[in-house]
Amino acid sequence: MRFHKAELFFFLLMILVVAGGVFSLAAFSAATGGHVVGGIETSADFALMGAVLAGLSVVCGLLLVYPTMSSSLRERGKLQQMTESLSVRSLNLEHAAVTDSLTGMYNRRYFDDALSEYLEAFGHIDKPIGMVILDLDHFKKVNDTHGHDVGDKVLREVAECLQVFTRYHDVLARLGGEEFAILSPNITERQLYNLSDRIRQAVSELRIVNGNVTLKVTVSAGLAIWDRTESGEELYRRADKQLYEAKRQGRNRVCAA
Ligand code: GH3
Ligand code: MG
Ligand code: MG
Repeated sequence: MRFHKAELFFFLLMILVVAGGVFSLAAFSAATGGHVVGGIETSADFALMGAVLAGLSVVCGLLLVYPTMSSSLRERGKLQQMTESLSVRSLNLEHAAVTDSLTGMYNRRYFDDALSEYLEAFGHIDKPIGMVILDLDHFKKVNDTHGHDVGDKVLREVAECLQVFTRYHDVLARLGGEEFAILSPNITERQLYNLSDRIRQAVSELRIVNGNVTLKVTVSAGLAIWDRTESGEELYRRADKQLYEAKRQGRNRVCAA
């Protein structure tokens, strides 16, 4: 068994204290019993030894035990700080792995995981679940005319607008580029259509101000309700097909499967 330096110093201190105590006791009993050994007052010798050992205990405590103890406490504090900052960092990394840095929304990775989890859970209960895919119309033109930074600003403002309309158990994500998706549990096709159309309307009413230029954008959306047998990928493809249909019909509209 290996002992820490602080433990060894502590044992040494204990030995000194116990030995000091033994000598003090011996001095006391010699003084009361009146023993004389070799012509010397034994009680005085014992008392002197006790006093020397008490002094040594104090020296040992001050020079060995206390410094080792306080330095190991400081090290422990530092270690605790490091562990805390590491766990904060790993939480941040976890958050970054599922977040889109431009809009602060969930990213495609999170959306795909949530989709499989929701379909698995909703497979066991008799409740509908729907998906909406939204894509900004002619967004390339925004970038080409006003620059990429303005394009980014448009994406952030549209993202904020989407956030306002979604309920807390809806999963809202930026799938990439100017494409967003909503996974909405416990909703009928009519309700999902109305929600998507309210979003479409709100986006078309946004006024994005950049210097002395005011921009307007529109969004097209495609939606599908899970048929309870298809995979997440198949549900996504059906909603995406409806998005394509909305684009084909002239954009700034919602199409449902
Ligand atoms: P449509 O109505 O058919 O969807 O046309 P569109 O121009 O919106 O679609 P297209 O796929 O041709 O162009 C999408 C553009 O989105 C091209 C790309 O430069 C831009 N884009 C993708 N990601 C970002 C981004 O993070 N920031 C900015 N500013 N632009 C982006
Ligand atoms: Mg687009
Ligand atoms: Mg697109």
